Amino acid sequence: MDCLFCKIAAGDIPSDKVYEDNQILAFRDINPQAPVHVLVIPRTHIASADEVTADNSALVARIFACIPQIAKKVGLANGYRVITNCGEDGCQSVKHLHFHILGGKKLTENMG
Ligand code: AMP
Ligand code: ZN
Repeated sequence: MDCLFCKIAAGDIPSDKVYEDNQILAFRDINPQAPVHVLVIPRTHIASADEVTADNSALVARIFACIPQIAKKVGLANGYRVITNCGEDGCQSVKHLHFHILGGKKLTENMG
């Protein structure tokens, strides 16, 4: 499958990794939107949040269980934002489920 984040998960495309285990990977965004901007992905291809089902949601729970330690590791002691863009209106550009972790400054309140 021609998927950028599957290639990053496989190690075929390099990334600035901050956390990995056998199920998930976290790496720094190549075009950071905040002083700290990390992406967390499942190694398995799930296209978007709209493709989460009862069968694969344990992986999403696992990502969220790892987010606190990832945030701590990259120095986000004062809070952060977790975002997933989904589909056309959500401006999702990479069609492999990923959660943005943003922080390192006081973010704006604008969510939309
Ligand atoms: P989204 O717009 O939610 O689909 O987010 C995709 C994100 O992937 C964007 O923030 C991009 O900057 C980021 N991105 C694209 N290519 C790479 C890459 N090779 N390494 C790290 N981040 C990337
Ligand atoms: Zn993929």
